[in-house]
Amino acid sequence: MRLIREGVAASPGIVIGQAHVLHWEVPRVPHASVAEPEIEREIERLHDAREWAKGRIRQIQEEAARRLGPVEAQIFEPQILMLDDTELVGGVETYIRENHLSAARAFEWRILELRSQWSHASHPMVMDRLNDLEDVEIRVLNWLLGLPDPDHTTAVDGDGIILVARDLTPSITVQLDRARILGIATDGGTRTSHWAILARSMGIPAVVRLGDLSDHVQSGDELILDGRIGRVVVEPAEEERRKYLEREARIQVWEKELAIFAHVEPVTLDGRRVSLRANIDLPAEAVPARDHGAQGIGLFRTEFLVVGRAAMPDEEEQYEAYRRVAEAFPDGAAYVRTFDVGGDKFPMFLHMPAEENPFLGWRAIRVCLDVPELFRTQLRALLRATAHGDVRIMLPLVNDVEEIERTRELVAQEEETLRRRGIPFNAGYKLGILIETPAAALDAAELARHADFFSIGTNDLVQYTLAVDRTNARLSKLYNPFHPSVVRLLHRISTVARSGGIEVSICGEMASNPLGTFLLLGLDITALSVGWPSIPETKKVIRSICIADAQRAAAQALTAATASDVIRCLEEGIGDAIDLSTYAER
Ligand code: PEP
Ligand code: MG
Repeated sequence: MRLIREGVAASPGIVIGQAHVLHWEVPRVPHASVAEPEIEREIERLHDAREWAKGRIRQIQEEAARRLGPVEAQIFEPQILMLDDTELVGGVETYIRENHLSAARAFEWRILELRSQWSHASHPMVMDRLNDLEDVEIRVLNWLLGLPDPDHTTAVDGDGIILVARDLTPSITVQLDRARILGIATDGGTRTSHWAILARSMGIPAVVRLGDLSDHVQSGDELILDGRIGRVVVEPAEEERRKYLEREARIQVWEKELAIFAHVEPVTLDGRRVSLRANIDLPAEAVPARDHGAQGIGLFRTEFLVVGRAAMPDEEEQYEAYRRVAEAFPDGAAYVRTFDVGGDKFPMFLHMPAEENPFLGWRAIRVCLDVPELFRTQLRALLRATAHGDVRIMLPLVNDVEEIERTRELVAQEEETLRRRGIPFNAGYKLGILIETPAAALDAAELARHADFFSIGTNDLVQYTLAVDRTNARLSKLYNPFHPSVVRLLHRISTVARSGGIEVSICGEMASNPLGTFLLLGLDITALSVGWPSIPETKKVIRSICIADAQRAAAQALTAATASDVIRCLEEGIGDAIDLSTYAER
């Protein structure tokens, strides 16, 4: 049955292949009780199963470390810790002892209980934790029931496969054979699901949040999966198939053509130099970012160090990660964002409250200031990394001066700690903020007196200005970075930063949209940071336009009444300098 589904792009790339619907399920556990004399033996079986499962997860973790690196391998740590969790194990033992349940049945009950407790929180990161729990549950139950440990990779026949599943788990993903599995499409999941992070670092295109797609696809169906825009087409018509193949071919030509842009300066036709840096999620992306022509890292999201982790990351691990990024850019800056947890990203080691509105809740700088041991360790690691390059400290979701002042106090104390320990750092480091809320934009003049730089996070600024949840697919048409209110705020931030004598850059998605690039340059925001794969195409845009045209168009856009009017001004201003249709269909 022909079907088109829009989801969320989780890992880039376009592929055409045959569906394999992967049904991984928790095994059915028969009702069984144990007689009193067998209870101790049954508890022993539970512990044997746990030990065996831990061993198996460690093997998978080692394989992940070999294939992807030590940071990615950490993703399995929570699963190992779950198997030692007293809340889980103690509960299962009680069910065996007091209710005379078999170990399998007791384990199933306890997991059911934890799942219902955790789901009350209904945060996406809790969902990820549930996903980990399910991975663990399947492994333990299979062992207890004498079933083979599932190997999903051998269950998939043939080549050119697109996996379709309700959701995936990190352990299934890491075992996928990249040569045979072209892409992944899931009903659930998020861009920051552990398995999606792994898919990105394995280079497997993926689309998540596709509703009930797996109910409508049969193994063997032909699928087109577009991990750039987050679309899946099931059983495409011949015409559609042809269009996609042509599009894929055009993209390949386009990418080859773009490769040359990696090695040229980002300068406009009328000679305005632009700073073009990259956004990254993992330290391993710093070198590909540099190879794509980035002049530095404009946004290093550090949440990979905390999300899904069972324990706070230590100073040494963080220092190594920041240092690795700094060393990739001996001549460029690395803006490292302090932990932006909360919202849709939750570490397991923090007891995050269930909140009605997590994006308006305990998030980012608010969490860091409330959990000083977490923040101080990160600040120390960052300070140490300044000895290896131009590492800048960037605070997310700042709303007022006090948050900067309190952070500066903590940094000063940590500087003292390092001095006492004789550990080197560069005292001339810069500390700046992300402007992501209307409050920060409106108060920019005051904030500019306390921050060394501004970086505008348009992904959040748009969400908070328009009161449109950035993750709500139903509202995606309303989530418009060209809304006149956003344009006016951007103009205000840019003007204030210039008169305050501090750098203003931008690191939201808007910077990689060609019309967005044009507008931002026109608003005199000439330091951009984009996802590293977009560096060459953004350079191409920069090198195709004149700053004078951009300024004229931006001035007009500032008088526009609607988002469509803003877009019209920009399109007219760009004229035929850029073929926007090529961008629109990528
Ligand atoms: C932003 O909000 O624009 C931003 C860059 O941060 P994130 O997308 O990680 O919230
Ligand atoms: Mg943000």
